[in-house]
Amino acid sequence: MAIVFLSLGSNLGEREAMLGAALDQLEGRAGEIVARSDIYETEPWGDAGQPVFLNQVISLSAHLTPHGLLNAIRSIERQMGRRRNGKLFQPRPIDIDILFYEQLVLHSRRLTVPHPLLHQRAFILVPLMEIAPEWVHPSLKRSVRDLYAENQDPLTVRRYHTELRQGEG
Ligand code: ADP
Ligand code: MG
Repeated sequence: MAIVFLSLGSNLGEREAMLGAALDQLEGRAGEIVARSDIYETEPWGDAGQPVFLNQVISLSAHLTPHGLLNAIRSIERQMGRRRNGKLFQPRPIDIDILFYEQLVLHSRRLTVPHPLLHQRAFILVPLMEIAPEWVHPSLKRSVRDLYAENQDPLTVRRYHTELRQGEG
C-alpha cells in the first residue's frame, strides 16, 4: 500500500456532492481514505471569469501504481461528466490531481509527481496544512509547513461551511 495525497476540485454543478461522489469512487477503486481536509471555497486560478471552486485534499492508502492511480482518476472524472475540449482552465464537475505518491519523484509523458504547481497554489497548501504539515516534498526538500509559510499566492481560500450556506437561504 502507498500513501498518496490527492487534490479534488469542482466548479460546476452540485459542487459539494461532486466532491463526496469522488471520495466514494476513490474508496471503491483506489484504496482507503486516511484523512480528509475541510472543504474550501477558492477563486479560480488562471482565469478570473470562471465560477468559484470548492477544493479539498485527501490522503489515501492506495493499492495502485502511480499510473494505475492516474487511470482510475481519469475514469472517475469521465464517469462524473468531465469533458476535455483541449482548452485549459475550463469549468469542470470534478478535477482530481495526484499531489504526492509516497516520496516518489516521477516525470513521464502522462504524469508528473509531485504535482508541479502544488507549492505555488494556496488552494492546495491550505488544506494540505490541515492533514499533513510535516510531510516533506521529495524534490524541494521542504515540509508542507515551510511551503505554506513561503507561499505568495494572492488568491482567496476560505473554509466552506455547509451549515452557513443552508442558513443563508
Ligand atoms: P489540470 O488538472 O491541470 O487542470 P487536467 O485535469 O485536464 O488539467 O489534466 C491534464 C493532464 O495532466 C492529465 O491528462 C494527466 O495526464 C496530466 N498529469 C500530469 N501530472 C499529473 C498529476 N500529478 N495528477 C493528475 N494529472 C496529471
Ligand atoms: Mg487534473
